[in-house]
Parts: sequence; C-alpha cells; structure tokens
Amino acid sequence: MTLIDTRTPNPKNFISGQTGDWEIVIGMEVHAQVTSQSKLFSGASTEFGSPPNANVSFVDAGMPGMLPVINEECVRQAVRTGLGLKAQINKRSIFDRKNYFYPDQPPGYQISQFKDPIVGEGSVFLDIDGERVEIGIERLHLETDAGKLIHDQHPSMSFVDLNRAGVALMEIVSKPDMRSSEEAKGYLSKLRTILRYLGTCDGNMEQGSMRADINVSVRKPGGAFGTRCEIKNVNSIRFAGQAIEFEARRQIDILEDGGAIDQETRLYDPKTGETRSMRSKEDAQDYRYFPEPDLLPLEFDQAFIDELAQHLPELPDEKQARFISEYGVTPYDAMVLTLDRETADYYEAAVKFGDTKRDGKAVANLVNGDIAAFANSQGLSAFETHIKPGQIAGIVDLVAAGTISSKGAKDLLQVIIAEEPEGEPAEIVERRGMKQVTDLGAIEKVVDEIIAANPDQVAKVLAKPTLIGWFVGQAMKASGGKANPQALNEILKKKLGLE
Ligand code: ADP
Ligand code: MG
Repeated sequence: MTLIDTRTPNPKNFISGQTGDWEIVIGMEVHAQVTSQSKLFSGASTEFGSPPNANVSFVDAGMPGMLPVINEECVRQAVRTGLGLKAQINKRSIFDRKNYFYPDQPPGYQISQFKDPIVGEGSVFLDIDGERVEIGIERLHLETDAGKLIHDQHPSMSFVDLNRAGVALMEIVSKPDMRSSEEAKGYLSKLRTILRYLGTCDGNMEQGSMRADINVSVRKPGGAFGTRCEIKNVNSIRFAGQAIEFEARRQIDILEDGGAIDQETRLYDPKTGETRSMRSKEDAQDYRYFPEPDLLPLEFDQAFIDELAQHLPELPDEKQARFISEYGVTPYDAMVLTLDRETADYYEAAVKFGDTKRDGKAVANLVNGDIAAFANSQGLSAFETHIKPGQIAGIVDLVAAGTISSKGAKDLLQVIIAEEPEGEPAEIVERRGMKQVTDLGAIEKVVDEIIAANPDQVAKVLAKPTLIGWFVGQAMKASGGKANPQALNEILKKKLGLE
C-alpha cells in the first residue's frame, strides 16, 4: 500500500512532548461479520450463542476433500457495503489462501483475498466539531473467521468451538487518514452506523461481530510517516480511544529518549489502560499466500451491481442532508437524529404524524432534548422509550396552537413520562387544566395586583429594566405557571411603562 498524506496538519490535533509538538497517525483494519444465515463457504448456520460446535460443516472442520462453495448472499452484502462506502466495486476478485496453523482453524489456512479484493477505494465522512473530515478507504475484502479457543473452563485443558469458523468477515482497511483518538472513535462509530443502515453487519462490538485492528504511529506535524504499531482486536469504541492515547504517548516517550519504534503487534488491556507487546509484526510472505485452488475467481457483471445499488437504503449522510433541507434542523441535530435508522424513523414519524406536517425543528428539540435525556437515564435510545411519535406530535401541535407554552410542553412531557404513559396530550392538558392563560384580562389583573403590592420593585425595574424578570416570575407563580409568556411580557412592559 502506497501511503499518501491527504490531511493538512491541524494544530488542534497536536500533542506536546519535551521536544515540541507531535501528530498521531492512525489507520484501521476493521473486521465486520457479515449478516447472513450461513457461512461464507458452507451451509452451516451463523447463529450466535448456539451450543459449542453445533454449527460446523465438514468444510468448516477442514475435512480432506471437502470443497468450499461461495455463498452468494455474502457476496451481495460485501458489494452493498462497498456501495455504501462510495467505493470502487471490482467485478473480478480472487480468493487466496493465507496459511498459518492455529487450533481454532482446522484447515491450516484462512481463505481471504490478497491482491485482488472485491472492493477498492472509497470514503467515510465524519463530523468532527462541526467540520467534515474525509477518511479514505483502501479496500474491503471477504475472508473466513476462525473458531474460538476456550481456556477458562478447565484448569489444564483448552476447548475448541468451531461455530464461528468459516463465518464471513469483511475486512475494511482505511488509509492512514486519522489524526486523533477523537477521529478514530468517530470513524468506528460512523462505519458502524453505515453497516447497520445497510444491514450488512450488526456492528455489535461486545459480541465481537465488529473488531478493530488499530495502527498507530507518531511524527512531527506534517513530517514523514513514522513506524507504526498495530493494536489487535479492540472491541469497543471507548477502548479504541484509550488505546490510541496510551500508545501515542508511549511512542513519543521512546522517540524523545532517542529510541526507535519496533514495528510490532500489541494488545490493549482495558484493566491497566496500557498496550503491551504481543509479537513482532509478521510480513505477507510469512503467510505464503497463493490463489485458492478450490475456488474460481469471483466474477459478476454491472447489472448485478446496479441491481444492488438500486435497492440500497437511504444512508446516514444523505438522510442528514435531507433532514437539514426538508425540516430545517441544524446540522448537529440532523447528525444526532441519523445516528441510527430507528431514531431517524421515529423522528420522521413524529414530524409527519397524522395528515399534518409539523415544524421539524420543534420535534427535533423535543427528541434530542428532554426525550433523549429521559432515554439516557433509562439506558435506552429515544425510539425505545414508551413515548410514541403521536404523543410528540400532539405536544408540538399544542405549542403551535398556543394552547400550552414551551414550559407547558416540558411539564406535559413529564406527565407522559412519569404518570400517564399512554396519555393523549390534548386530553391530558384539558383534564388537568394545563392550558396556558391567553385571556388578556386575567393576565392584566394579576399584573396590576403585583405592581400595586410592590412599589419598591417597581422603582428598581424602572432604573434597571432587565429586572423585569422578577415580575415575570411573580406573575407566572400567581397564574400557576399558565400565563402565556409572550402576552405576559407585553402586558408587563406596558403597565410598567418600559416601552
Ligand atoms: P499490513 O501489511 O499490516 O496489512 P497495510 O499496508 O495493509 O499493512 O496497512 C494496514 C493498516 O495500517 C492500514 O489501515 C493503513 O492505513 C495503516 N497504516 C499503514 N502505515 C501506517 C502508519 N505509518 N501509521 C499509521 N497507520 C498506518
Ligand atoms: Mg492489511
């Protein structure tokens, strides 16, 4: 891989050492388990959590003479992922044997793609502090996963579970385009979002269906790329950030002490927050790659690609752009709303509920504001709470009609959250007498009383008009929080002679 520096150094990303500023360079290889009923080259099930060795065919077990047969669904998923990454799809690709021995891999080799992968260069776009950052994709190839070794069940024995052996993986290789742990976390999160929108990988890092090998090096800002270390199998976005921070600092310390970085494979230990050496880096020639003799080159035509492209769902970037233009929400709100497809659908269902189309900004404020806060407190996403799109629509409509104030909307939402989960907003407002008072006569009466009772405060506010807030507070209290704030403000100003 020829390494090209596509990024202009940004001081925001520099970290300081004793000899001046340093810049981190990060490139990732993400292994994403393909969502499919059966394995890449056998009909065995991919079901997670089955009893050990329940899903193992003769192919997966490496029985002599068994021949692999490509699973077309996995090929489709890889191509769809390539399209989602705006990448070059290669109509001809080749499977290779990557030879190494380990007990979790009975055939003694992994079937992978080496020189001719199914997908070539593409891009992932990140929003970092309101800026759009492009991370290049080098390639995506298909390969088989290995089984699992279980060491903690018996004091002197290890067990082999081959359920995962032969499951299809997509290895998605980025260019060395990331420059901070923030960007690396953003990349993992965005990639996972894209895979989930596409339905090509469930992105479940805790269960291991998405794992990242993170390559980290440091250099003087804008200088030549440094020697990298590869941190293997990181299984959470948070750990990825921690591992990068630790590793960059470790490398800077070595370099500043006059040492050199050994290119090696390291492991991150979340318990200590440190990376430690696992082995020196192996080279491609160590694997004795050769074309897989049991499989033909993988070939398909443009019509196959076009068909898949046509049925691709709307992806996060496009959805975000549409939310901004169609509903007038801020780029930030649009980004948060499109982090997962379900939240985006939930939001849109509320905007479009019934026959009316309501103010998208008002709906976004509720969903990303008080509803998100409640959802967070329950460890849920907004769409997983009991609050229905129709209830959100009802609240927004009541505010738009002037029936309740925005403060009233918050109170109403709390009623639905804590007391009446199934409640219909308009009915709750009616029954509980939560309507705001827009009856000007009634508000005037309250204001007159407060002014008459507080001559000192009147003198103060005349000298310093910003003190009007005190009167607003008193009047609100006297009206049980139901006075229309706008009307109240106008009346107060008029009566106090502040206009
Ligand atoms: P390998 O032989 O390990 O597969 P590749 O050239 O395929 O090496 O690169 C693997 C990953 O390492 C890619 O994601 C690439 O962007 C990243 N990478 C390569 N060089 C560097 C570097 N100097 N610093 C950080 N990441 C790097
Ligand atoms: Mg590689």
